[in-house]
Amino acid sequence: MLNIVLFGPPGAGKGTQSEKIIAKYNLTHLSTGDLFRKHLGEGTELGKLARKYMDEGKLVPDEVVIDMVDDKIANTPETNGFIFDGFPRTVAQAEALDRLMQRKATKIAGMIALDVAEEVLKERIRERGKTSGRVDDQDENKIETRIKVYLAETLPVASYYEKQGKFAKINGVGSIDGIFEEISNVIDSY
Ligand code: ADP
Repeated sequence: MLNIVLFGPPGAGKGTQSEKIIAKYNLTHLSTGDLFRKHLGEGTELGKLARKYMDEGKLVPDEVVIDMVDDKIANTPETNGFIFDGFPRTVAQAEALDRLMQRKATKIAGMIALDVAEEVLKERIRERGKTSGRVDDQDENKIETRIKVYLAETLPVASYYEKQGKFAKINGVGSIDGIFEEISNVIDSY
């Protein structure tokens, strides 16, 4: 299996690049943000629980996220591997992911981080907010909170993979195809 963590702040372009990676390498997309939004839309208990965190731009508690990912992995029997998007977002989630991978007798090949300056991120999120319908994309304070949470809680996850020699950083500003080519080069080196 080929398992990749796609990493970066909100608005870095993870969703866009995920689609291209999935198509080229035939992987299963596991986006915790998308999974939560699906639960929200379906009005499940999990969705109701997640909503209050998501709408504020805060992180959903680790146990809740980990259980949901565990469930998704368990219910994906046949796959070439996973592309994790928006997960792990805390070091505790990264440790849990290692355990989940071990249980499947596989591992994370590497983390690919998309690097984008804060001002560019804010502009992209504001732009996306015009059409995404996402509450957390439409309010300056919430955008600000998400970037703050990213810097404080999520950025340490990069060091977690760096220590294992599994970290690659790519410039996330440029053409979508150009960025994808750089990502492909990293994946092909695994
Ligand atoms: P973004 O565009 O900000 O990267 P996502 O679509 O990945 O956002 O996630 C939206 C929201 O869902 C987050 O702000 C957070 O509340 C919740 N969420 C998604 N993934 C996680 C996670 N791994 N841990 C905790 N909360 C999460």
